[in-house]
Amino acid sequence: MAGAFWCIVEDDRKGSPKKVMAEVIGEATRLGGTAEAVWLTDKATDEGLAQLGAWGATRVLLLENAAFAPYQSDVWVSAAADLAAKESPKAILAPVTSRQREFVARLAARLGVGLAADSVGLAMDGDRLVATRPVYAGKLLSRVTWAKGPWVATLRPNVFRPAESQPGKTATVDRPAVTAGSGAAKFVERREEASTGLPELTEAEIVISGGRGMKGPENYVILEEMGGVIGAAVGASRAAVDAGWRPHRFQIGQTGRTISPKLYLGFGVSGAIQHLAGMRTSKVIVAINKDPEAPIFKIADYGIVGDLFEVVPALTQEFKRLLEK
Ligand SMILES: Cc1cc2nc3c(=O)[nH]c(=O)nc-3n(C[C@H](O)[C@H](O)[C@H](O)COP(=O)(O)OP(=O)(O)OC[C@H]3O[C@@H](n4cnc5c(N)ncnc54)[C@H](O)[C@@H]3O)c2cc1C
Repeated sequence: MAGAFWCIVEDDRKGSPKKVMAEVIGEATRLGGTAEAVWLTDKATDEGLAQLGAWGATRVLLLENAAFAPYQSDVWVSAAADLAAKESPKAILAPVTSRQREFVARLAARLGVGLAADSVGLAMDGDRLVATRPVYAGKLLSRVTWAKGPWVATLRPNVFRPAESQPGKTATVDRPAVTAGSGAAKFVERREEASTGLPELTEAEIVISGGRGMKGPENYVILEEMGGVIGAAVGASRAAVDAGWRPHRFQIGQTGRTISPKLYLGFGVSGAIQHLAGMRTSKVIVAINKDPEAPIFKIADYGIVGDLFEVVPALTQEFKRLLEK
């Protein structure tokens, strides 16, 4: 429909939208737009389509084609740009994930419009959309709008209020014909990272972060144990990643992942500006550090001055008791 708010679907590669889509669709609806889910995939499940409707998408534009997996940005961009030319959406919104931040940036360039990347607020001002986004590593917030549409934005996870799932609500499913060409890159090999069994860093409601104070890779097991008890993802500072203790995909910060969980617990993290850039929008920040002067205490809501190797087991024990695990 012309004038719709497109919500580009991020899925789990198994045919279901990720729960961050509740936030994107919820925000599109809250802004007064007609929320339409645009889903490029090689396989969508009926449950996945039903879920998009239950979150409030009125229509799903399903682009289902083997060429869309594994993801190649140029293949996706050509198909989505063709569809945008036919459908004239008013806005194109997507969650901040590794592939969406690349895909949506290239799509905006193809459409010749601006992109508000990593937005933490969206609001209508009369008949134009205004996005709020952090700049200078989160030190300032800037408000931007678009010279022309469609308005393209990526939304930081865990910031926008998610739509409640209403199982009775359904979306019309359209399968528009689009050309899925072949990409410039050739797919060679896919290697699945072994799952930690813990939530994904950027989607988790609770994140535990371990810094150089962890002293070595073998000690992360105590953070993972705590993660298992409270359902948290375990991330790391760049010092820990550079030391080879954790893979880069777990790095939080300016040159790593940006997270915005309900609760962030930092163990042995000093709070360098580049680390804060990736986690300062967390709702509640708890810092555990043996140095009372550590800069992280300046932005922490709660702090424990102590040795993490004593604090972590004690906290895990207490969480277990409280949660009766
Ligand atoms: C261009 C650029 C980009 C960068 N990007 C990032 C980024 O994305 N993410 C990032 O994290 N950093 C990034 N950095 C690096 C950043 O500047 C810091 O060097 C890094 O964040 C420090 O990591 P840390 O806090 O783990 O280590 P440190 O600063 O060494 O702090 C370790 C802390 O652990 C405490 N500690 C030690 N032992 C214990 C114990 N037993 N119990 C409790 N506390 C203890 C210490 O008191 C100390 O405060 C970047 C730097 C640059 C220049």
